[in-house]
Amino acid sequence: MATLQDRLGRSMQDLRISVTDRCNFRCVYCMPKEVFGPSFAFLPRRELLTFEEIARVAKIFAELGVRKIRLTGGEPLVRKDIDTLVQELASIPGIDDLAMTTNGSLLTAERAQKLRSAGLKRVTVSLDSLDDAKFRALNDVGFPVARVLEAIHNAAQAGLTPVKVNMVVKRGANDEDILVMAEHFRGTGHILRFIEYMDVGTANGWRLDDVVQNSKILEQINARWPLEPVAPARPSDVARRFRYTDGAGEIGLIASVSQPFCRDCSRARLSPDGQLFLCLFAQKGYDLRHWLRSGASDDEIEEVVRHIWSGRDVRYSEVRSEKTSGMPKVEMFRIGG
Ligand code: SF4
Repeated sequence: MATLQDRLGRSMQDLRISVTDRCNFRCVYCMPKEVFGPSFAFLPRRELLTFEEIARVAKIFAELGVRKIRLTGGEPLVRKDIDTLVQELASIPGIDDLAMTTNGSLLTAERAQKLRSAGLKRVTVSLDSLDDAKFRALNDVGFPVARVLEAIHNAAQAGLTPVKVNMVVKRGANDEDILVMAEHFRGTGHILRFIEYMDVGTANGWRLDDVVQNSKILEQINARWPLEPVAPARPSDVARRFRYTDGAGEIGLIASVSQPFCRDCSRARLSPDGQLFLCLFAQKGYDLRHWLRSGASDDEIEEVVRHIWSGRDVRYSEVRSEKTSGMPKVEMFRIGG
């Protein structure tokens, strides 16, 4: 059967699975406390896909060409026994990369080892500043930098490598920390990635003025430590890669706002309640849980997904404007970045 492609000729190679909409942080650019406070109704357990259902969906998507799975949330490690799901997903034929994005708060040495033994290949840890006061303000639950650095160490010790570290850069919040962060991770083997602040979801009050363009970040670092470009491993990779010419490692730049990468976007996203989203900035999803729980066969569900993907033509970042940024969009913590 021909490779499944969408209307823009993009195949489906990556599945991002959000296993929970809950998180123990309240990062101001994703889940601001004022909106997602104690009274906010997160998904009740019965609405969440079970691990069996998630694994079934992943098998179907692997049949359709998915090769890489990323587990996300909310914070995926708040979901109990997640290593059981990792084991199931790692055994699916065709899946050759299994990664997780986490805030590191629950990534103890023991847990990192368990995830590695279950089949997880690598982790990406979010860290927006090394300045403890700033970081506590950005995660808005007062979580200390030292504990995240410990989690990064635990991941490396467990072999969940290369460890990638994601820094969302927002003007006036942490843009003064770019060189400090770069210096800290030089020579560690960890890959620091600078992410342009994005108009995800509906609640972060995004303004274009708060975006620090990746080209400026590149300029700043290159002036201090010369960099050279590195070819992407796959055309659909989101980060533009650069390495220090003095051998001190690599950085990544993720420029969804100033240099959109929709042209090769091969990412499908599954929400915790079984909705399929075709873009990080989608307004609506497609309910797969209904099919899973109404007796449909794998082949029938495969046809449904094939139909949905072949009709896909999203390229939000290429058409982003002040007007679109205000439109209602799925919350990032429901589909995991
Ligand atoms: S904006 Fe949407 S289509 Fe473009 S790269 Fe991001 S997820 Fe893909």
